[in-house]
Amino acid sequence: MAGRKSRYLIAILVIVSGQFGAVLHAFELDFVKARKKMIQKDLMGRDISDPVVLKAMSTIPREKFVLPKDQYRAYSDHPLPIGEGQTISQPYIVALMTQLANLKGNERVLEIGTGSGYQAAVLAEIVPEVYTIEIRKPLAESAAKRLRELDYHNTRVKHADGYFGWKEAAPFDVIMITAAANHVPPPLKKQLADGGRLILPLGSTTYFQTLTLIEKKGKFFRTRQITGVVFVPMIGKARE
Ligand code: SAH
Repeated sequence: MAGRKSRYLIAILVIVSGQFGAVLHAFELDFVKARKKMIQKDLMGRDISDPVVLKAMSTIPREKFVLPKDQYRAYSDHPLPIGEGQTISQPYIVALMTQLANLKGNERVLEIGTGSGYQAAVLAEIVPEVYTIEIRKPLAESAAKRLRELDYHNTRVKHADGYFGWKEAAPFDVIMITAAANHVPPPLKKQLADGGRLILPLGSTTYFQTLTLIEKKGKFFRTRQITGVVFVPMIGKARE
């Protein structure tokens, strides 16, 4: 704590003396340190071991996906508000869902629920093409802008109801729904490639859900329940 206080004091002195660059650099170093700690403690310290997931999350500046007032806690293992009453998931859940996708690096991926764009960025670090759909226009617009500015040119953001998927770009090897649904939208099952994986929080949209992995094998779907989670609800057609 004393360390943080003195850093603020130095920051004020430096601002007063006009050295903004030095202050920004000091804060960036803090984020790098916090990110490393998050990877070691909250991901590797639990059951996240897939090197592609760890590498992706070691690279992405999560502080750029949260509100400016929350940047100081961007690397704590909690969901955070992103505006419009929505949240960015806690880092562990992002890592777990990505690990369940079992990505090798050549998959075509669809995400439903772009939110801040963080999960899309994690996927975009690993695979060549990420399609992501957001139903709330302000979030779709801000995420698209953020992903562009951070050079994630392999992501495509669409403002629509993700229930219906992205037919023109299907089939997908992986579909990830990052909002809670009480059933799997049939169009998404259809748009899943043979051997593909669908990951979603399935259950009550007002209480908690079970993170569920569904694998498509020909005409059959194999379902595995992973763990209990709490997500914001999927709205639109899923609620009718
Ligand atoms: N993956 C996001 C967090 C998801 S929060 C991130 O990394 O930041 C859930 C998001 O799903 C919210 O932004 C919400 O608006 C969106 N959502 C809810 N219902 C949806 C639907 N039917 N289609 C697309 N997006 C939806």
